[in-house]
Amino acid sequence: SIGVTLYPQDGSDAGQLMRHADQAMYSAKQAGKNCFRLFDTVLANASKVQLESIDNIISALKQHEFVLHYQPKVNMNTGAVIGVEALIRWQHPERGLVPPLEFLPIIEGHTISLELGEWVIGTALEQIKQWQTIGMHLPISVNISGYQLQQGNFATRIAALLAAYPEVNPSYLELEILETSVLHDISQVSATMNACHKLGVRFALDDFGTGYSSLTHLRRLPAQLIKIDQTFVRDMLEDADDCAIVEGVIGLAKAFRRDVIAEGVETIAHGVALLQLGCELAQGYGIARPMLGTNIPQWISNWKADESW
Ligand code: C2E
Ligand code: MG
Ligand code: MG
Repeated sequence: SIGVTLYPQDGSDAGQLMRHADQAMYSAKQAGKNCFRLFDTVLANASKVQLESIDNIISALKQHEFVLHYQPKVNMNTGAVIGVEALIRWQHPERGLVPPLEFLPIIEGHTISLELGEWVIGTALEQIKQWQTIGMHLPISVNISGYQLQQGNFATRIAALLAAYPEVNPSYLELEILETSVLHDISQVSATMNACHKLGVRFALDDFGTGYSSLTHLRRLPAQLIKIDQTFVRDMLEDADDCAIVEGVIGLAKAFRRDVIAEGVETIAHGVALLQLGCELAQGYGIARPMLGTNIPQWISNWKADESW
């Protein structure tokens, strides 16, 4: 029984790597021995916190325990708020607010993940409608799992969800797809995206730069917005390599005539550096943390871009 862990993806110090290899070996043994297992960071994080069963998540959806928080996306140059990203949380009766990476990996690939995904889109459309009634016109971007996007009827489902909200302009809905989500068949995915495009919906490529074939994705997938992954942004001030990646992605976006936004902008200094590199759009704790929809209007009326921007 062999456990495999990869440096540097799975951990950076020797002790942690040994623990991970050990854990992977344990799961090789559990799988019947005489085989090997790769350490999986996402699964390991999920199992650290008490493992939730799929049944619990199904009943949580029935009990209305899921909520969306919204994180503003801004133009640091003009000071405009260009939209918000919807981020799901589980308002757990005992555990409090549970972040998405503690429950989404458990249901990925199960039908409940499709139901939850549609709940997110429906709730976001309802929120756009609510904000419109108070005169606020704000686009919402929603994260879509690779599994959901690769359902044969994805575009039809989006059309049905939009049809339930005739007062919402489809261009106010943006779908974020993870660069790393296993895109088995890139031509099928690109056809699905084109079909959604015809409905008026826009796309963003999330966590850009972390995939295996970023250039192919950029060329073949009709996404208007590229989101520079936060790991590159976070370290760009100290790490010349990360800074070079950020600069490279900004250049690629320009060359392909796409918009580009930096995620994980934690400080004013990050914003200054990004503006110098030609990236005006940003999202991150340095601007605002994700918050309840009811708090967004007030946040918008108070927010001003930093003077050094
Ligand atoms: P993401 O789409 O890349 O979203 C950004 C994540 O980074 C969010 O974490 C956000 O709270 C966090 N973040 C924002 N600014 C900063 C910052 O300045 N510093 C740091 N360290 N973090 C920042 P969150 O909400 O825990 O979501 C994690 C991931 O879970 C998301 O990454 C997305 O891939 C997934 N996710 C969230 N909501 C949904 C959903 O409704 N459906 C699906 N399929 N996935 C979702
Ligand atoms: Mg996202
Ligand atoms: Mg991201």
